[in-house]
Amino acid sequence: MTAQILDGKGLANTIRQEIAVRATAFRERYSKSPKLVAVLVGDDPASQVYIRNKEIACQKAGISSEVLKLSAATTTQELLGILDRLNADPSVHGILVQLPLPDHLETRSVLDRILPAKDVDAFSPENVGLMSQGRPRFLPCTPHGVMQLLDRSGISIRGKEVVVVGRSDIVGKPLVSMCLQKSGPGGPSNANATVTCCHSQTPNLEEITRRADVLLVAIGKPNWITAQMVKPGAVVVDIGINRLEDRLVGDVDFESVCKVASAITPVPGGVGPLTIAMLLDNTLRAAEQQSER
Ligand code: NDP
Repeated sequence: MTAQILDGKGLANTIRQEIAVRATAFRERYSKSPKLVAVLVGDDPASQVYIRNKEIACQKAGISSEVLKLSAATTTQELLGILDRLNADPSVHGILVQLPLPDHLETRSVLDRILPAKDVDAFSPENVGLMSQGRPRFLPCTPHGVMQLLDRSGISIRGKEVVVVGRSDIVGKPLVSMCLQKSGPGGPSNANATVTCCHSQTPNLEEITRRADVLLVAIGKPNWITAQMVKPGAVVVDIGINRLEDRLVGDVDFESVCKVASAITPVPGGVGPLTIAMLLDNTLRAAEQQSER
């Protein structure tokens, strides 16, 4: 079997075009642009690339964006003061703080300070709580991208055995929560799965991953999931992005797994581009919600 390649890049372009149409309608209705402010502390090269990509994506979708570049010596108190100012500014609809922050900063307190209505990464306790109760204000960008990819590729997870490998707050846990809901972004077939979550303390990982009809992997270890860990015919979504010397690879060994899976995402060109598309979606939603009040 050779797996169908799930083209996240192409799908992200389609979603971004849809968002551009909505952004135009927003501007015409409210005579202002949706606006995202990204806060970047320090000069981590990978973070600079991510922020630049987000800025370009905003421009193309007709969403105004601003990047606040702060010195690596910024203190937690100074950063909290900046977030307070952005929270109070009615022209700013979405705020994100690029992670990771330098070690001396208190990441949790910083993220908690963003007003939930402007928290377009959906990391705040309020937004996580709303999502877990099945009434999301925003969905976290990467897991939302995964759900859109499955839904728009015609892959139902209803009643299927879904295995999520990884339990981080930004990818693994929200994916578990979204797959468990009674309805997803694409409706009931985009939810209602029977879900198992694995992590570094899970013994016999292979026994569990081999049960998966749909295997979602976010562990940050290059090519970790091999063909023998995958049930023949499974759908495999590789969320990992690992930088080797000369290229990017995922957490799934693409070469071997694409011979047993029925569908698989590539890295790059899989989930990554969808993450940015869903950030644009959240920014526009935030602007709509704040303007409709
Ligand atoms: P974290 O490091 O925060 O979490 C990794 C998770 O994987 C942890 O729960 C850890 O377990 C688990 N894990 C690690 N090793 C193993 C193993 N051998 N077997 C089973 N579980 C294991 O990473 P993130 O969730 O932030 O990111 C995961 C990957 O996804 C990374 O490659 C990252 O670059 C990528 N990513 C991609 C995005 C995109 O847009 N496509 C966006 C965000 C992340 P434990 O909890 O026990 O430590």
